[in-house]
Amino acid sequence: MIKLSNVIKLYRLKSGNVKAVDSVNLQIEKGEIFGIIGYSGAGKSTLIRLLNGLEKPTSGSVNVAGRTIERINGRELRKARQEISMIFQHFNLLWSRTVRENIAFPLEIAGVKKNERLKRVDELIKLVGLEGREDAYPSQLSGGQKQRVGIARALANNPKVLLCDEATSALDPQTTDSILELLVDINKRLGLTIVLITHEMHVIRKICHRVAVMENGQIVEHGDVLNVFKNP
Ligand code: ADP
Ligand code: ADP
Repeated sequence: MIKLSNVIKLYRLKSGNVKAVDSVNLQIEKGEIFGIIGYSGAGKSTLIRLLNGLEKPTSGSVNVAGRTIERINGRELRKARQEISMIFQHFNLLWSRTVRENIAFPLEIAGVKKNERLKRVDELIKLVGLEGREDAYPSQLSGGQKQRVGIARALANNPKVLLCDEATSALDPQTTDSILELLVDINKRLGLTIVLITHEMHVIRKICHRVAVMENGQIVEHGDVLNVFKNP
């Protein structure tokens, strides 16, 4: 589903160059929950932005869901972004719109007709367990509920890959667990490939099948979670 070959991302700054991603090779299979862990500044966000085409690699190749990300633009890139969806630490919801309207938003952009949109939104609300909160505004929701809206919105156009950028870092431990359980449920039910970046080891331990450890832009270790995190 995802293949990175010799990927380098260089930021040119006045103070010098930063290799945010340095010679990364990585393959993630369909249906996997794959974790990328590392300290702040390790290059995780840059890597995730390379996966959905928000950044282009300085060199190397990024393939996601059958597309070569660095070669596409315009319409093709917009289509890719529907297939490679994302959730965020601070949810990135539209604050003047209700739960239902937030979830419908990507469907409107994709040109889905109203009847179909309403049906799809109802399905998504059930999937993430937000029944009864359809007409609430984000400010009236708890952190966990906001992330459920984020997840429903991300799933609206049936993506092939879900990217999670520190998706539970703003939540308390109990809410974190409930969101992680929802992600596992979605992974099982839809066979969705999930890539998550985090600085929290317990998040990886709880739901990931495999993990890559990033340091200074490089993947310094990767493999099954049990092997990478085994106690000496
Ligand atoms: P992480 O997500 O692991 O905290 P980042 O990918 O945000 O790491 O950052 C990796 C390195 O790249 C850091 O040194 C950071 O300062 C640098 N960096 C990230 N984004 C930019 C950018 N847009 N311009 C310049 N430098 C950047
Ligand atoms: P939480 O209670 O989970 O911290 P908040 O409601 O405080 O969530 O908001 C989370 C993020 O959304 C913050 O970064 C905040 O600045 C931003 N935010 C909150 N309300 C609005 C708003 N009305 N318009 C734009 N951004 C907002």
